[in-house]
Amino acid sequence: MTKQKHIQCPYCHANASLRPASTVYGCNRRSQGKYIYLCDRWPACDAYVSAHDRTHRPMGTLANGDLRHKRILAHRALEHLQQSRHMEKWEVYIWLQAKLGLNDQQAHIGMFSDGMCDEVIRLCYKAAAPLGNLHSAA
Ligand SMILES: [Zn+2]
Repeated sequence: MTKQKHIQCPYCHANASLRPASTVYGCNRRSQGKYIYLCDRWPACDAYVSAHDRTHRPMGTLANGDLRHKRILAHRALEHLQQSRHMEKWEVYIWLQAKLGLNDQQAHIGMFSDGMCDEVIRLCYKAAAPLGNLHSAA
């Protein structure tokens, strides 16, 4: 058993514990063998974050439903930029680090707040190549 990291829920300040992902996702392919850090007040508090497969270290900070959704949108915006500019994934992250003034330890969307995700989304769509059938405002 991996040593558990002491983590506090940023929303309700209860402790978060390493639990099987099936606790929230149910038993399915998505949850099989996966772990999450889940707020001890769940289900009253809906905050959790995925844990890495082997190390069981948290992939970022605990997020509630709204922030999880925002982080998915930020990942999507990065993918859009990557594809539209034919970049490699690591190039996109180097670009993001430079834009936000973060180092490679800090530039993980799993650690970003709602406001930072908004900033990522804005920057990505600004930097992405314009779609063929749209006129660029600039
Ligand atoms: Zn909580």
